[in-house]
Amino acid sequence: ILQVNRLHKNYGATPVLRGINLDVRAGELISVIGPSGSGKSTLLRCCNRMEEASGGEILVEGHDISHARGKTLNQLRLRLGMVFQSFNLYPHLTVKGNVTLALRKVKKFDATSADQLALAALECVGMAHKADARPSQLSGGQQQRVGIARAIALEPAMILFDEPTSALDPEMVDGVLEVMRELRASGMTMMVVTHEMSFAQAASDRVIFMDQGVIVEQGTPAQIFGAPTQPRTAAFISRSA
Ligand code: ATP
Ligand code: MG
Repeated sequence: ILQVNRLHKNYGATPVLRGINLDVRAGELISVIGPSGSGKSTLLRCCNRMEEASGGEILVEGHDISHARGKTLNQLRLRLGMVFQSFNLYPHLTVKGNVTLALRKVKKFDATSADQLALAALECVGMAHKADARPSQLSGGQQQRVGIARAIALEPAMILFDEPTSALDPEMVDGVLEVMRELRASGMTMMVVTHEMSFAQAASDRVIFMDQGVIVEQGTPAQIFGAPTQPRTAAFISRSA
């Protein structure tokens, strides 16, 4: 679904990503863990070209997004759903309005089809009953579930999450993680940057440990959490335990 080859990113003279190679297969849930500043968010943002890479290549379903432009770029971007720490919902729109916006403006669906897709997506995250509410009337956890519904509604090939629960009160975290587990069970391909080690351990097919702009080690949760081969991974895991 997503292939990252020799990805480099510099900010000025500072290298932030130093040769990332990654192959995400259909239906996989990959957790990306690592210390602050290791380049996790940059990696995600480079995938959909919110951030321009300095070198390397990114393929989305076999199509080169790294050199795509105009309409082609927009179409490839739509294949990658994004969910961020801050939910970025429009306060003046209803929940349904937030979810249908891109369907109508970008995908050019008519109002009826957009509403149907939006309600189905809201159903998936348990938020259909709040379709007519405003974001300000929802808890943070509920807002994040709407953020996930907005991504699902666009029917992406894959969803990239950047610390989806980091901005939430502790009691809201589980509901969002539960929605993500259900999404995975439904077959959605996902890459999740997270500090929730128990989620990474229990819900991932593969865990990637990044440090200083490289993938230091990757493997099954059992390998990474139970028997890391790299000292840096072991040190990070023991600090996070
Ligand atoms: P965290 O866990 O804190 O979110 P991260 O692994 O997501 O960290 P990134 O946000 O990808 O890390 O940042 C990687 C490095 O790139 C950091 O050293 C950061 O200071 C630097 N960086 C990120 N964005 C920019 C920018 N727009 N301009 C300059 N440097 C940046
Ligand atoms: Mg980050």
